[in-house]
Amino acid sequence: MEAELPSLPSLPAESVAARAALQVVRSIEPRIADAIVGELTDQRASLKLIASENYASPAVLLTMGNWLNDKYAEGTIGRRFYAGCRNVDAVETIAAEHARELFGASHAYVQPHSGIDANLVAYWAILAHRVEAPTLRRLEAKTVNNLSDADWAQLRQDLGNQRMLGMSLDAGGHLTHGFRPNISGKMFEQRSYGVDPVTGLLDYDALLATAREFRPLVIVAGYSAYPRLVDFRRMREIADEVGATLMVDMAHFAGLVAGKVLTGDLDPVPHAHIVTTTTHKSLRGPRGGMVLSQPELADQVNRGCPMVLGGPLPHVMAAKAVALAEARQPAFADYARRVVDNAGALAEGLLRRGVRLVTGGTDNHLALIDVAPDGLTGRQAESALLDSGIVTNRNAIPADPNGAWFTSGVRIGTPALTTRGLGAAEMDEIADMIAGVLAATSSGTTPEGSPSRVRYVLDPSFAAKTAARATELVAGFPLYPSIDLG
Ligand code: PLP
Repeated sequence: MEAELPSLPSLPAESVAARAALQVVRSIEPRIADAIVGELTDQRASLKLIASENYASPAVLLTMGNWLNDKYAEGTIGRRFYAGCRNVDAVETIAAEHARELFGASHAYVQPHSGIDANLVAYWAILAHRVEAPTLRRLEAKTVNNLSDADWAQLRQDLGNQRMLGMSLDAGGHLTHGFRPNISGKMFEQRSYGVDPVTGLLDYDALLATAREFRPLVIVAGYSAYPRLVDFRRMREIADEVGATLMVDMAHFAGLVAGKVLTGDLDPVPHAHIVTTTTHKSLRGPRGGMVLSQPELADQVNRGCPMVLGGPLPHVMAAKAVALAEARQPAFADYARRVVDNAGALAEGLLRRGVRLVTGGTDNHLALIDVAPDGLTGRQAESALLDSGIVTNRNAIPADPNGAWFTSGVRIGTPALTTRGLGAAEMDEIADMIAGVLAATSSGTTPEGSPSRVRYVLDPSFAAKTAARATELVAGFPLYPSIDLG
């Protein structure tokens, strides 16, 4: 049982709110209250290097726990399928306004429930828009929305293969960029572009050659595990040359765009026809997605719900508005700069200790460790690091001989630890811990005696000592310092 609720002035408002919420939850289902408390305890104690995770502010978290949850609001602002959406209209308008201002976008759609959903909205909008010009005239229809079923059948035949050119998974692309486990791999005939096998850097000339030959309808830029910068001006030139729509999925680096670390050719918004993102990674908002588009795609983007999305989550849209308002503050630009500086310091510390990094370093918020020189798979390294109190995730590296499941890489990123306030000195200490664990771990064998891709050998006392070091390190940087559960 949480401590008695104190009077407001004696505790920060965030603590009072968190204690009150837990007390109410506990009265109905105490196991859920326990899990909520347990998660805070775990997060406070863990050294989190997962590049896609962060810690949303108490304001963002508190915005989600209220009765905005109770409202249905299918459709979009001013065009709802439900009555009584006055407050949801206000919420969605404010969130979209912040998004447009923050990113300099002409249109923002803040409903997607996740990054995958945002990409699906974008694919729908691109396809629907493409249908519009000459084909629609031939079908004597004004918009894609008044086509008959017979027209649609004709269209599917006319369009033939819908082609998508996306970054390959082992170069750092995402499943939603045309790969089979996602519907995009079934909607589109997909081909991938990759990186230079020697430098590990994006090869724009090879990309252009593939685009010329393949003539894709859509080129998708953006990544989950590429540690360098992308020249979006160049990407747009390539798209224009082959008549493709350029879509950029900035899910990972939206916070760096928001914080003006990525500007000019490195900012996708002025160059892409359509940009998608998550709101919970480097952008540090609630779990969710968002689409920014050029005006000509706006109408189709706004049809996301109910075309491909379920009813909007008004409480999450409200939290997106709060997070976007936070990201418009000068402090967020400072945060974004520190994220990149910390990634650089961490990479340098690893390189100095002989750890191999894909591309030899990083320019953004993440780095990719190649653990093959340590004789390990990514899966073994991920587990050994976890035993040692360091939370990362395994990831394929270019031309990975171990495939996407076992992998030869470990991805690390700094958005979360930077939110906690860790800096360059702590990054060097973390580099020392990671290098130590990798050096101390060796590959195990299967029961038959052949090399295992799963089993590993790491002295438990070494792991425990490193874990204690990790806990001590993060303890100096309290997580949610204004939240005291008593
Ligand atoms: N796009 C990219 C580039 C991602 O890295 C991810 C998630 O890892 C997604 C989309 C999917 O986001 P979500 O998990 O919110 O659906």
